Amino acid sequence: MNKGSINKSTTFHTFVAYFHNDMRIDIITVLPEILESPLGHSIIKRAQTKGLVQVQLHHLRDYTTDKHRTVDDYAFGPDAGMVMKIEPIFNVISKLKSERHYDDIIYTSPDGQRLTQQVANGLSIKENIIILCGHYKGIDHRVREHLITREISIGDYVLSGGELAAAIIVDSVVRLIPGVLSDETSALTDSFQDNLLAPPVYTRPAEFNGWKVPEVLTSGNFKAIEKWQMEQALERTKQLRPELLEGLDEDGEID
Ligand code: SAH
Repeated sequence: MNKGSINKSTTFHTFVAYFHNDMRIDIITVLPEILESPLGHSIIKRAQTKGLVQVQLHHLRDYTTDKHRTVDDYAFGPDAGMVMKIEPIFNVISKLKSERHYDDIIYTSPDGQRLTQQVANGLSIKENIIILCGHYKGIDHRVREHLITREISIGDYVLSGGELAAAIIVDSVVRLIPGVLSDETSALTDSFQDNLLAPPVYTRPAEFNGWKVPEVLTSGNFKAIEKWQMEQALERTKQLRPELLEGLDEDGEID
């Protein structure tokens, strides 16, 4: 059986494909250069060219009011380190909010909600979102208390800035927007969509260096191939990520 054809995700994506509006993602950053390459190539670029998503970068320094275009200042307290100032962040978020409604204003943060396929699915049906990239010791906490609606982490490690995290969030979300991938169902058979890892994939030649692809794949028997893929997906999940089979996440919590 096809991994994609047996799960709730199919229904979810059919629903999304029908009702989806073009998405807009505004990213606030002090280093737009870091984001230009990941956003300017391949699938993400094509999605923008097709008009399925609009990604806008906003340079935080453009929203400062002092001569030196200051975006950071010393942290209060004895600890060394700089903190991103509240005023420019307030200015850019206020300007964006005056132009349209935002479903979520996201701060990339190591202590945020862990990015999973389910989180990406949820974000892919939003219309407008803002992603704020932090730097230094982080951002003035009042921004998080009063302006941010959601915080997302890409994993339990600390990066030097939020730009790479933002690029990963955008990539995982944009490829789910209907019409972005050429074979629209292909996102459905990816790992995690149905709590299963993807089965192995092969391409020609069917034999290289004496190494053969599994015979069933060249049999032309699609029913047998689907059955094999399902068995492989189950087997790999059992071996590599058994907790997924119980519908549990890495921390043993129910998804
Ligand atoms: N002092 C902070 C880390 C600051 S790292 C702490 O200990 O929590 C600088 C910036 O990088 C953060 O403000 C955040 O925007 C980004 N960042 C670092 N690690 C991240 C992660 N795992 N996920 C998402 N963003 C991250």
